[in-house]
Amino acid sequence: MTTIDQSTPIQPISDPVFDAAGIQVAIKREDLNHPRISGNKWWKLKHNVNAAIAQNHQTLLTFGGAYSNHIYATAAAASVHGLQSIGIIRGEQVLPLNQTLTFAREAGMELHFIARDTYRTKAEPSFISELEERFGRFYLLPEGGSNELGVAGVASFAEGLPLDFDYVCCPVGTGATLAGIVRGRKGTGHAIGFPVLKGGQAWATAVESYVPQYANWQLFGEYHFGGYAKTTLELDRFMRDFESSQGVPIEHVYSGKMFYGIYDLAAMGFFTRGSTVLAIHTGGLRPKV
Ligand SMILES: *Cc1c(COP(=O)(O)O)cnc(C)c1O
Repeated sequence: MTTIDQSTPIQPISDPVFDAAGIQVAIKREDLNHPRISGNKWWKLKHNVNAAIAQNHQTLLTFGGAYSNHIYATAAAASVHGLQSIGIIRGEQVLPLNQTLTFAREAGMELHFIARDTYRTKAEPSFISELEERFGRFYLLPEGGSNELGVAGVASFAEGLPLDFDYVCCPVGTGATLAGIVRGRKGTGHAIGFPVLKGGQAWATAVESYVPQYANWQLFGEYHFGGYAKTTLELDRFMRDFESSQGVPIEHVYSGKMFYGIYDLAAMGFFTRGSTVLAIHTGGLRPKV
């Protein structure tokens, strides 16, 4: 897999909320690790792309919504490595294509749009064999790049983090990134996940399945702001204040919700006084066009 900047900064941020809570907060800037395959998606793709190449695959096939960072990153990774890529996209094609899908197509990804109810069956063996009949042999990447190799890639990132943070925080889509952080830190400190979708304990089950040996992690499910990619005036205002006071770009799908959650938990006194908190900026910002 193509290389990234392995020395992205850990940037301390200050705020009266953190001072009042007696905590120190810093951001690991993984949004800066690669211009195209940025953030946690690079880490999740790393071992998968290497496995595809080692198994002599010519094609990566994967799934995602029309705004999926994973579709974007997979298209970029495939093109860098001279692989073909096929994206199975949830829902009807909307023209003109948005920025994500335009980028993916320009990077050479073949896009196929499928109905939402068919999309729900995408992990079923019968659907996968239909795809094989249609497209031939491919390396199958699940939605979000979230599989065992994806978790292992994130774990290799988390192993490189300094050990002295008491809490490590990240947004949660499928939970593979949180699981990788827990695995890489081998029982040290606490890992805190902020689900960006509505919906109960589904992620807890996913995280547990990857790291059954660890229990030092927790989800805070109250910061989804209505669901995936939804926002509110309050979240928008928070993000504007955050960007102007901290000078760190965030977005409303993932990082905005995580930082809102961190501020809120700090204000409520959740973090032990005197402790240190590391927020992983998992990327998701598009290069300006
Ligand atoms: C995909 C994504 C996530 C979610 O990662 P999971 O491993 O699916 O939980 C978080 N942040 C950003 C920026 C993402 O693109």
